[in-house]
Amino acid sequence: MVKNIALLGSTGSIGKKAFNISKRLGINIVALAAYNNIDVLENQIRDVNPELVAVYDSTAAIKLKRNINDTFTKVFSGLEGLCEVASRSKADMVLNSVMGMVGLMPTLAAINSGKNIALANKETLVVGGELVVNEAKRQGVKILPVDSEHSAIFQCLEGCNKKKDLKKLILTASGGPFFGKDYNYLKKVKKEDALKHPNWRMGNKITVDSATMMNKGLEIIEAVWLFGVEQENIEVLVHRESVVHSMIEYKDNSIIAQLSVPDMEIPIQYALTYPDREFSNVKPLDLKSISSLSFYEPDFQLFNGINICREAIEIGGTLPAIANGANEEAVKLFLEDKIGFLEICNVVKKSIKSLTPTKIEKIEDILKADRDARDFVLKNAIRVEG
Ligand code: MG
Repeated sequence: MVKNIALLGSTGSIGKKAFNISKRLGINIVALAAYNNIDVLENQIRDVNPELVAVYDSTAAIKLKRNINDTFTKVFSGLEGLCEVASRSKADMVLNSVMGMVGLMPTLAAINSGKNIALANKETLVVGGELVVNEAKRQGVKILPVDSEHSAIFQCLEGCNKKKDLKKLILTASGGPFFGKDYNYLKKVKKEDALKHPNWRMGNKITVDSATMMNKGLEIIEAVWLFGVEQENIEVLVHRESVVHSMIEYKDNSIIAQLSVPDMEIPIQYALTYPDREFSNVKPLDLKSISSLSFYEPDFQLFNGINICREAIEIGGTLPAIANGANEEAVKLFLEDKIGFLEICNVVKKSIKSLTPTKIEKIEDILKADRDARDFVLKNAIRVEG
């Protein structure tokens, strides 16, 4: 089990859970980072006295510095601050649950300083998978998945000693709030509708990604890099109950699945205790009370986030970074009521058709692709009238 941990994104839904799990398991929380929620962050600081903290928003960082000047905790700010905290603390593991591709640089900073990664920030692998995986190999550090589907696959693969026997990965998807709805319905949905996820309580960005199924597309790319599997060997099934968190299938057609009550506590805790297991506060799964589990093929036409991401990773280079940057910007516009729900995937699709990907040789190639994609969306997204 990890001894000292740094939690990046500690005030978000994963971060708060990770904070409580770490305390319960007796893991020292030596560093924290947040976007701008300094009230929650201050409570966490006073609770565990970390050596370092970072706040992404510089105004909030200055305020926090004033508020905690009676403590010994050092405060950093901005993206550089997140990288400082990721690399300079005495943590042996960094849990990265920041939102969006902002998480890439802190992940690389942590890897370069030889720290293992518990990865909840899937965008890190979507935009910079090859760089990140190669760097981790070079430094001999582990990347442990926190995303529930990838943790499930990681757990299923524990008994797999011959990768050549593996046929495919099967990612399950809840289908989000709009499963089974038609085009005319989706044309009119508002952000309030998209933010009502049936099974998981998560941040706004990932909840919208779950409604467009872009989340599942990003998870395909994440799985490609985590498990070294081609995208065509990763299947997606809609599974409304969110009990089977994902599966693997062997060449003899035997399937191994991981099941539990839907609660992020299990994947977070397993990344922290791996390869051991500890007791958790998650309720045991009562299959009798569920009685049946259902699986469906996703509607790839209406929810085309999956196909967009398949195309992006197939062509490769900076195209996944383009898809991701375009999606982050489009979701932001949707949450500001500036574009409609269906326009999110429309404009992301246009961006990967219009922008030319390049090879990734250095980090700047990724950052440029991300900027270009965001500019493209700002210029080309069809705005809501009025
Ligand atoms: Mg997931």
